Amino acid sequence: RPTCHIIVGMAGSGKTTYMAQLTRHLGSECYIINLDPAVTHLPYTPSIDIRDTVDYKKVMSEYNLGPNGAIVTSLNLFSTKFDSVLKILESKTSTIKHIIIDTPGQIESFTWSASGTIITSSLSLSFPTIMTYVCDTVRCCQVSTFMSNMLYACSMMYRSRLPMVIALNKIDLQSSKIIKEWMDDYSTFMDAMECTGEESYYNSLNRSLAMTLDKFYSTLKRCSVSGATGEGVEEYLQCVDSARSEFFEGFWKDMETRR
Ligand code: GDP
Ligand code: MG
Repeated sequence: RPTCHIIVGMAGSGKTTYMAQLTRHLGSECYIINLDPAVTHLPYTPSIDIRDTVDYKKVMSEYNLGPNGAIVTSLNLFSTKFDSVLKILESKTSTIKHIIIDTPGQIESFTWSASGTIITSSLSLSFPTIMTYVCDTVRCCQVSTFMSNMLYACSMMYRSRLPMVIALNKIDLQSSKIIKEWMDDYSTFMDAMECTGEESYYNSLNRSLAMTLDKFYSTLKRCSVSGATGEGVEEYLQCVDSARSEFFEGFWKDMETRR
């Protein structure tokens, strides 16, 4: 069965740009779904586009909502029709290997909404599903940004219980070497933190968090990519392969025993 990749990450981390590279690389092997109702331009051609079903601007004026409320409401409207999306996907399983899903720029509108949960769980009940967490490497080189990104990634994995691949993006601008070091050996992260000269409460909190996250890092698959140049897509797909096996060993087995 095709592997389903749900692409998440902070606004501006480069989800959409990276997806364009990924889909170019995979060609006809992949099926593309856009779940961002507010996007104006896409660098790829989706097979299913939320914008064909829901008019974001109309939702905003009709329900008297701000931008974020309108995104969540659009997703809610779309999720009520998600069974027909699943039917379409089911009919394609013999020809496609990957289902790739772009999510709204504002991460919480997908990860903390009922519709996001419905979409994620209905996909994972039908297909091997993984989360791809895209990070902006340039920003993550800052200790505090790195830490908050990892906490966010960890909480998403905790909630969805799906295997996660971290894609350190924008390596055409900044090498991901330091970040990989921080994940492999938390003492290097401690050293980087000492250099910031932050107040001691913040530092001791950071230290405990780093130790806690060490366990999370050890199971995490990570790769360095660039949405701008397409570098790292191969490495990413290898991570996806092992995340897929992890899905069958973990999530899938859990479901079988509950059935
Ligand atoms: P999204 O909100 O996560 O979907 O982010 P976008 O894909 O829209 O990208 C946000 C901004 O980052 C855009 O201006 C992109 O051109 C830029 N960007 C994304 N990926 C890369 C990358 O790998 N390298 C560079 N240099 N810029 C990138
Ligand atoms: Mg986007």
